[in-house]
Amino acid sequence: MANVLGSVRLSHETESTISPDGQGEQIKGWSDLHDHTVIHMAQDLEVSGAVALHERPGLGPWLTEPDKIAQWDIICVAELDRLSQSLLDTAEFIRWCQENGKTIVSAGEPLDFSGAMGRMFAQQLAMYAEFERERISERRAKAAARLRRKAQWGGGRPPFGYMPVKEDDYYVLVPNPATVPVVMRIAADIIAGKSCNQIARDLNAENVPSSQGGPGMQASVWRAQGIIVLMRNPALRGLVMQDDHHGKSVIVRDDDGNPVTREAIVDKETWDNVQEALDKNGISPELARAAESARGFMPTPEGLALYDTAATYAHLGPVAEIGTYCGKSTIYLAAAAREAGQLVVTVDHHRGSEENQPGLDWHDAELVDPATGRLDTLPHFRSALAATGLEEHVIAVVGRSTSVAGLWRTPVGMLFIDGGHTDALAQADYEAWAPWVVEGGALAIHDVFPDPADGAQGPYRMYLRALKSGAFTEVRVEGSLRVLERTGPGIG
Ligand code: SAH
Ligand code: MG
Repeated sequence: MANVLGSVRLSHETESTISPDGQGEQIKGWSDLHDHTVIHMAQDLEVSGAVALHERPGLGPWLTEPDKIAQWDIICVAELDRLSQSLLDTAEFIRWCQENGKTIVSAGEPLDFSGAMGRMFAQQLAMYAEFERERISERRAKAAARLRRKAQWGGGRPPFGYMPVKEDDYYVLVPNPATVPVVMRIAADIIAGKSCNQIARDLNAENVPSSQGGPGMQASVWRAQGIIVLMRNPALRGLVMQDDHHGKSVIVRDDDGNPVTREAIVDKETWDNVQEALDKNGISPELARAAESARGFMPTPEGLALYDTAATYAHLGPVAEIGTYCGKSTIYLAAAAREAGQLVVTVDHHRGSEENQPGLDWHDAELVDPATGRLDTLPHFRSALAATGLEEHVIAVVGRSTSVAGLWRTPVGMLFIDGGHTDALAQADYEAWAPWVVEGGALAIHDVFPDPADGAQGPYRMYLRALKSGAFTEVRVEGSLRVLERTGPGIG
């Protein structure tokens, strides 16, 4: 029965498979088996095997302070490499133990180190441990060199927020003090709930050079989509990204599969908040699906632009829509209006436009009411809207656009005109409704086709008139959709 000093060591430098607790248990197990008592478990976590035994914070005092040395007879480690990885240190320690009547035991190796043979084995084991340690540091040096190569900047346009600097004979990317504040400001705006559309317009108004511009390149304008791409790019978190040659950006990884990194621009918390806000920023996937599957004439990119526009302008007042049809565009508008706490008023006589009548290009026989033999889109609109849960946020007015306008007295934050496409109807809609768009509000016009081969010219000529009046300024083009902002009085 003897007193045992346990020695536990763990450093990230080695790939030891035994946790500190595991080592402690092994030592305890060995002691119990031999009827010994563990009087102390010296812990040296995060201490390299290259540090001399008597210099280790945990073990050192038990090898140097006489009153502590007197307390133990056997030093026990889980495996010999936990003791020391320096041949010299091990050899000296073995001699010290002999001189002081101490015994070294390894619970993991079935070796008795007390005799001459044991000492030789111990020294050989220590020799291998030292060899292993050197190999590990060589491996690490090689891996670090490979990593540096992977993090190199290969040229081209750096991600916005970074700039290339020369390091040795290659370039790396570091945060660019000129553009990092722009990234941080965009992040703050997104977290504050600003739409990317609005952020883009603010940046353009302030002439902030866009993420598409750069030295020697023509600075182009900020767009909502560009802001989303920028703020969704993991490069901002310091991840090194690479083109996969199929137009997709992928994370570059090291040999262990971990991402290769450089200095991050956006901290983890900000990144998470920005991603969460961006998830909420757009239309919900369910509503986007509902709108896509609804009957009607609104290509998805244009519908999403409608959503963005309503999201940007609805805080100024309700949204008015001329031309409901079966509610496809209404869903996009109402999804955004609901978030702004506004209503959508959508106007249609529900008998269809000229081109929807029997025998013409855009006729849908399923929309004919058998009782009257005439088109009736109202029931289809009703059921499409009911399925979205947006019913409460939409007021449907059944009537001719100009008749309804005759009773209308409310300024609107956004007006969307998508009614009759003949010149007469388009001009009448413009005259009746455009005056109600508030200063700073939006007028969106659908089916603007400069080329007569693409469609009727009514909406296009309405659009030209609006621009010419000086009352409206174009802010966005998406397919045949034009978004104008009210920038002056009168409507021309
Ligand atoms: N915005 C719809 C498509 C509208 S189609 C969508 O996203 O799918 C044009 C609609 O305008 C038709 O439903 C037609 O009935 C309506 N319309 C045409 N002229 C009108 C008028 N003078 N008054 C009211 N509605 C009219
Ligand atoms: Mg249309």
